[in-house]
Formats: sequence, C-alpha cells, structure tokens
Amino acid sequence: MKYVGRLAPSPTGALHLGNVRTFLIAWLRARSLGGKMVFRMEDLDHPKDKPGAAADAVRDLRWLGFDWDEEYVQSERKDLYRDALSSLVSRGLAYPCVCSRRDVEAAQSAPHEGEQLFYPGTCRGRFASWGEAYTYLNSSTPPLLHSPTPPLPHSSTHRTPCWRFRVADGSRVAFDDVFAGRFEQDVSATLGDFPLARDEFGAGYTLACAVDDIAMGVTEVVRGDDLLAATPAQILVSRALGAERGISYCHVPLVVGPDGKRLAKRHGDTRVAAYRAAGVRPGQIIGRLAASCGWAEEGEEISPAALLPRFDLSAIPRAPFVATAR
Ligand code: GLU
Repeated sequence: MKYVGRLAPSPTGALHLGNVRTFLIAWLRARSLGGKMVFRMEDLDHPKDKPGAAADAVRDLRWLGFDWDEEYVQSERKDLYRDALSSLVSRGLAYPCVCSRRDVEAAQSAPHEGEQLFYPGTCRGRFASWGEAYTYLNSSTPPLLHSPTPPLPHSSTHRTPCWRFRVADGSRVAFDDVFAGRFEQDVSATLGDFPLARDEFGAGYTLACAVDDIAMGVTEVVRGDDLLAATPAQILVSRALGAERGISYCHVPLVVGPDGKRLAKRHGDTRVAAYRAAGVRPGQIIGRLAASCGWAEEGEEISPAALLPRFDLSAIPRAPFVATAR
C-alpha cells in the first residue's frame, strides 16, 4: 500500500520554527518512503483563525522547499462532516449536550491532567433531538431548525447545544506510535463522552480530522506529540465511521523555548516570515532544524529534498528541541 502522509496546519497564527520542524519530519518521512503528501488547511476554528494566515502558511512552506500532491481546505468540506455526524447520530453514537464548560468543570470528581476535561455523560439519553436540547437551553425553538444551511446564528442571547460522542464503557484504545512507542488510554475513564461539534451542523477538530484522514486515504499521521493524548478519541471516531484499516501514528517532540514551554511569542520572533524579512535563507532555517534532528551539522545550509538520503527517524532526540529566536 502506498504511503500517504499529510501536512495539516491551522491558520491560527504565522508558521514558526516549531511547525516547520514537525512538517520537515512529516515531509521527509512521506517522501523517503516514495509516498504521497496531502496538504490540508485546518481552518474550522473560527475564533482563533487569523485572516491571511492560511495563504501565508502556503507561501512560507513553498519558500522553504516543501511540496505536496493534493490540497484541501476544511472549511470547504463541511458537508462531509455533517454527513458523518448524521451517520453517528442515527446510530446512537452521538447525542446533544447542553452542559457548559463550567458545568463540566464543576462535575470533575478529581483533577485531570492537561486540557482534557472528563465528561460524566450528564446529557446521555436526555434529549430526543438537537432541537429539543436547544429548546431546553433557550426556552424557544431553534430559529433555523432543519434548515440545511449552517450556521445557526451565534447571538449572545442563544446558546447552542454541542454534540458528544458516546464512548462505550471500557473503551480502552492502544496503539504503537512509530516514534513515541506504545500508548494506551481508557477513553471512557479519562475523557468520557468527548465533544464532536459545537452546534447542530458544526464539526470540531476530532471529527473533521477523522473524516478527512479516512477520505484522503492517509496511512500515517506525523505530528507534534502535544496531540498524542487526543489520538485515542480520534481512533474511536474513525472506527465508528467505518475506517477499514488502522492509520499509523508518529508523534514527534515539540520545539520549546528556553523555559521548556511550547514555543510562543514570548520566546521571541521565530516566524518564518520574520526570518525571511531579515534576509535569512530557507536553507539556513532547514539546516538548523535538520541539525536539531541529527541529520546536519550546525550551520549547514540544506533543502528538504537534499535531506532525503539522510532522513532517519531514530536520530531525532527524544527530548523537545529548545530553540531561541536567533
Ligand atoms: N492542525 C493541527 C495543528 O496545527 C494539527 C492537526 C493534526 O496534525 O492532526 O496543530
């Protein structure tokens, strides 16, 4: 079977050293195996998406020497996500939920690590339809109920129920990550019924990612290890959507600032666009990241394509790469 990998940036900010290092690994992994590369813009996170960031990311990646064979934009694929959601709903695998984040936080029986909130299933079996949940929340019928045209108006006076995935009791997911090794999670005990969509016709990251990875024939996901803990939920959704074969996962260490925290603005300007504006050449950026992966000497200038013969996953240090804004 031919290897199909993907580059899946979110246009929530400008491309920086951290994204580029992960993309370099993903691109080399696919190309070194003679595989296909899919580019997918993950632009469903409207409040956080920045105008122009999607086009800038494409420009930056091309300037750095990356290429891909197919290109997709998630905001143009909402019909697919809606169909997937309907299929889950019709099989009793998704249900509407009226709990706010505060309700869910208040229901935590014990503190849970990270950003993952445990949901105890409060709204399981509670509403016969999304419309009924909406009416419960707003004491009125939804203005566009049954309308095929999303989205519902997000006014401050209306609250919208979300959709949650029904996680069967004892849903333990285990997989062998190509880089991170064996990973296991009892999703029913750590996450509970996780959210799939923010409103009636929406799609959140977990749902859209599962739908797209199946539809695009992705065989392996290479991405930052901040998403390792999100993977079991994605696997459950993929299975529920009838994924015929398992996707392989390869979670690689992130780039962090000198304080050990994930690379961010306060660590200085590590945006690709800022380096370009300062006269830094693409080969210098790739060379620096390649050196951090053990494939180049410090100070070497090199393109992604020229790194192909040197690509070796096992040379990448296990610890996060500490970068400064030089
Ligand atoms: N779009 C996500 C991000 O930029 C990556 C998602 C993925 O690779 O699955 O963090």
